[in-house]
Parts: sequence; C-alpha cells; structure tokens
Amino acid sequence: MNEVGLDKRQFGHRARLALSPVDVSRADGQAHAARALWNLLHAWWQMMPKAERTLANADAAIRQARKDIDFLAALPAQAAQAVLKTYVQAWKNCWDGRADAPNYKARIRSVMSVDIPQGRDLNISRVHRRWGMVNLPKIGRIRFRWTKDLPVGKRADNDNRITGARLVKDDLGWHIAFRVQTLVSTPEPHPGPAVGVDMGVTLPVALSNGKKFEHGKWLASKEQAKLLRLEQRSAALRQHRKRGEKNSKRLSCVYDQIARLRAKAKRRSHDWQHKTTTTIAATYGTVVVEALQITNMVRSTKGTVDEPGKNVAQKSGLNRSIHAEAWGRMMMMLGYKLTQRGGTFAKVPAPGTSQRCSACGFTTPGSRESQAVFVCKNSDCGWSGNADYNAARNILHLYRMGLALIPAAGRAVVRRTRRVKPAAAR
Ligand SMILES: [Zn+2]
Repeated sequence: MNEVGLDKRQFGHRARLALSPVDVSRADGQAHAARALWNLLHAWWQMMPKAERTLANADAAIRQARKDIDFLAALPAQAAQAVLKTYVQAWKNCWDGRADAPNYKARIRSVMSVDIPQGRDLNISRVHRRWGMVNLPKIGRIRFRWTKDLPVGKRADNDNRITGARLVKDDLGWHIAFRVQTLVSTPEPHPGPAVGVDMGVTLPVALSNGKKFEHGKWLASKEQAKLLRLEQRSAALRQHRKRGEKNSKRLSCVYDQIARLRAKAKRRSHDWQHKTTTTIAATYGTVVVEALQITNMVRSTKGTVDEPGKNVAQKSGLNRSIHAEAWGRMMMMLGYKLTQRGGTFAKVPAPGTSQRCSACGFTTPGSRESQAVFVCKNSDCGWSGNADYNAARNILHLYRMGLALIPAAGRAVVRRTRRVKPAAAR
C-alpha cells in the first residue's frame, strides 16, 4: 500500500441564517436562557464546598433548575449540557494559567450564543446553489447561506463530517458556525519564493519585492454620510435623556443602525484580509513578518519630552488598536493558510526595521523622513523609496540572517499523521 500522509483538519465555517422574526425571538430566548444558566451555575459553584463541586452534582443541579425555572426550558437539553462543559473548561483554562477565572455574564456586553453539540442533529442538506437547510433544536428547519461545500449527505463519512455547531448573534443578526472535521493529504513543501511582509500605516500591506496590497474605504461615501447623520442623531437624543433613565426606543434603534453599519465595515475589512492573505499564502513559500509587540508600540507612540514620537495621532488611541487588531488577525490567517499549503511562516524581532536602509544597511533614526518616504542618510548610498517597502526588505533580510523567532506559527497546530489501513483490513 502506498503510505499517503493524511492530516486531520478541524475548522469553523460561519454562515448567515435566514430567520423569521418568530425564530429570532426563539433564538434570543435560548441565548438568554443559556446565559442565565451560566450565571446560576457560577453561583452554585461558588456556594458549594470544594469537595462537592463535581460534574455529576453540577449536572443534577442543572436538571433540577430546568424543572423549576420555566424560561430555562426554552434551552434544548444538549445546549444546557454544553453550557456546563464550557464552564468546566473555563475553570481548566484558569487553572492552567491561560485565562482569568470565569465570571458572571451581563445581559449587555456578552455575546449571545447557543451551542448545538451534536452534529447529527443538524441534518444539513443543500436545497439551492446558494442555500442550505439545517435543523435547529426547538427552532425548526432553517435556511442558511451556502458559501462553502460542506461534508454533508453522501459526502460525509467518519473522517469528513460536521461535528457540531454554534449559533452566534452579532450586529448583523444570527449566524451559525459549523465545526467541520476533514481529512486532507499532507501538503508538499511549497516551492514559492521567500518574501518579507510589512503592515504599515500608509500602505496596508507592503511586500519586500515591491508589490503591495491596498484597499479603499470600508464604507461608501453615502454610507459614511449616513453614519455621521446617525451619530449626530444619537447625540441629540442623548441630550434629552435624564440621568439614570433608560434608553428610549428611538435611541436604541439609532444605536442598532450605527452598530449595523460598523459591523458591515468590519465584515468588508475581514473579507479583504482573507483575500489578501490567501493570495500571499498561495504565491510565496516562506512569509516573514515582524513579531508584534504591543508594549513597544505603545511606548514608541508618545515618545519622551526630549524625543517626541512621530505620527502620534495616527498611532494613538482607537487607530492604533484597530491597526494592531487587524495586524494580529492577518498574522493568524497567514499562519494557518501557509500551514495548509506547505509553506513556512516566520517572525523576526521588530526593532530597527523601519530605520535601517535596506540598500546599504546604514541605520539612523533620522533616515525616515516621513511616514511614507525613506531617504538614506549615508552619503555614499542616498537610496530613497517607500518606507513600508524598505521595512519589508529589512524583515526579509533579518530572516535570511537567521534571526527568526521560535516558535514561528502564530497558533499551535497539532498535526497527527494518519495512515490509511490496507484495503483487506477494512
Ligand atoms: Zn543606504
């Protein structure tokens, strides 16, 4: 038998659900019940003596609560079990030092979600080029947007299947996130060239070979005008609100509209990031980036009294946090997309990449004339060009010098090889 290396691959796939207003209120009810159950469970856990905090006791308490409290019955039994499982996992994450201790979930500021832990309950089928159908417990058979070929029906087997799902609500409405498990052949090493990538302020993404990726504004001018109008309207409505008073229906409606527009902009930026990282991962075999150090970024922004930082306005506050978030997400995407294609993802230490001349190696703090243009102060060299392109070339140079940080991948990926059994043994 040929020994084909096969890797188990687990990933999530998110799709928009087409819910009627009745279905939305049912899903909302389930999510509120799940949150209430979490809070009850947390209160129970803290009240119990340590010796009695067992899974069996917690399970019995949940069963009793579902009998005693009417609105908890809206939550399917398996989703209630999933709340317990998530809660216990939250404590394990805390004990292992990965996270803070679990806490109560507030009605606002917590994500509305319901778990569907059993994949076979979903009974997914494709009904149209663009639509699929899925069974949601205690809601019904619901249409969802079909944008990816999922392993369902005849295509599903023990190795390729949907193992579960989660309903999640954001500002654009309810979505379903499928947990997909597939078996893919181990990728051959990627033959593409190596490239350095810099995420700058003037250029969103600059490559060391001079290529660049740009994007327009996330909102069209009409949408931006609408957002401004809504923000002014919310400010005006807030003026009439007395201290301690609840938000009026009108004000909440305006807030919802603002949130929808912002969510739309965010979705468009995610789309651009996915397309860009897919292109990069498909083209290049080795991708080198700067290691993100948030503490350094914060320090370099304001500078000191003697040496004030440059472009403080661009780097500070919200701008910086959005930039850092976008950066982190793109690193994550590049990491897993390169792994899938057999490429290498490396990080190099960041200091000096924006101040070093990539042509002669001369480093002076003054070499960077502005955010956009780099001019070398070395009289023998005098190279000038786009500053982000210069930084990308320096990043690649650091990698070739052997300065890559270990571990390189942004997220630990456990890869188990699996051998195909001989046909006779099956
Ligand atoms: Zn130079």
